[in-house]
Amino acid sequence: MPSTSHSILIIGGGSAGIAAAASILKRRPGIDIAIVEPSDTHAYQPGWTMVGGGVFDVATTVRPMASVMPKGVRWIKQAAVSFQPEDNQVTLKDGGTVGYDVLVVAPGIRLAWEKIAGLTETLGQNGVTSNYRADLAPYTWELVQQLRGGKAIFTQPAMPIKCAGAPQKAMYLACDHWRRAGVLDNIQVDFRNAGGVLFGVADYVPALMEYVGKYGINLELGSNLVAVDGPARCATFATTSGEITVDFDMMHVVPPQVAPQCLADSPLAADSGFADVDQHTLQHVRYPNVFALGDGGSTPNAKTAAAARKQAPVVAVNVLRQLDSKGPAAGYDGYGSCPLTVERGKIVLAEFAYGGKLAPSFPTWLLDGTKPARLSWMLKADALPWIYWNGMLKGREWLAGPGGLIAQ
Ligand code: FAD
Repeated sequence: MPSTSHSILIIGGGSAGIAAAASILKRRPGIDIAIVEPSDTHAYQPGWTMVGGGVFDVATTVRPMASVMPKGVRWIKQAAVSFQPEDNQVTLKDGGTVGYDVLVVAPGIRLAWEKIAGLTETLGQNGVTSNYRADLAPYTWELVQQLRGGKAIFTQPAMPIKCAGAPQKAMYLACDHWRRAGVLDNIQVDFRNAGGVLFGVADYVPALMEYVGKYGINLELGSNLVAVDGPARCATFATTSGEITVDFDMMHVVPPQVAPQCLADSPLAADSGFADVDQHTLQHVRYPNVFALGDGGSTPNAKTAAAARKQAPVVAVNVLRQLDSKGPAAGYDGYGSCPLTVERGKIVLAEFAYGGKLAPSFPTWLLDGTKPARLSWMLKADALPWIYWNGMLKGREWLAGPGGLIAQ
């Protein structure tokens, strides 16, 4: 028997977990929800690209976890270490157990820095940085401002990663700074991407390729970072024609990313290690009283906060129906979004659903997402952080109401 039990137990108090709790409480105030979350702080990670580009102060992207916990939720300040779905139970790091009627799995994705030899030791020094950590994003901006000539490398690992556009966003903002400072011609910029395409949705590639050309970026596809020697300032990449070692003055690294170990090791996992849920209803394919959303889910959408914003209302509806012994009634269409910061003041706003189908939030006459636009920049720099803290995390489902069931 678990030590305690809750009607709804949520694993993870990130973008997805908090949004789901808020959306459930909006529909049924006072319902018994607990969130298992070990961290003291909650981050608006999409802001880290802007920190690395010198636009946001990192302090604006992080808030105390207590301040985003919806009122009435019981916060269990622990990590989940294993799942026992046959017994409707989760085991915590301190050895305690928590039971549930319905489980919502939202522990995000794990950044596997250790998969690149030599990286952990050199991060934050020797010119090696990453916008994927709040404490390192300011170092990106420091390096960008310091570099006046030499070689800059930006890397992208194999999929899946969260915000697949973030590796190149860091690069475009850096190039734009160097262009404005009049030093871009002195800097060789490499984009070394383990994948075979610049961006996964073809409609956005022409606009991005224009910037690749404009900034004189050397695009190397199928080039996967495997090792870094920080003090020697060189990095090794696996390519189709073997391993090559390249020198750098600065390098922005995006780490390989995998499912959290406790999830991958559990009966809830798909082959990928992520929680094995139906891509529309977000209900687990083997355990009907388990749901998942956010980066920790197996659904083939772009892993973004934008996706979690649309998934949370769907999970809220379907979780409450499960508690009422009814089948799911809401469906998620795979929406995800990636605002590609191609220069300071302009964004190519990628918005798409399953199958790469374009899913713009605005009519094309107002905002054509396939073209760089100032309005999209205003959205990212001014509107979206506010919408995140005051809308998404509070259960206000602006432009994100749950859709109906989707025919399979
Ligand atoms: P997270 O927000 O990462 O939260 C996971 C939570 O689970 C964390 O609080 C963690 O402490 C907790 N947790 C982990 N393991 C356990 C455990 N065992 N037990 C309990 N709790 C656990 N998205 C966009 O929409 N637009 C963007 O422009 C964008 N840009 C990005 C740029 C960068 C540099 C990065 C890093 C991300 C970006 N994203 C963007 C992606 C977005 O931040 C994520 O997709 C989103 O945060 C996913 O939400 P989540 O709740 O699944 O995961």
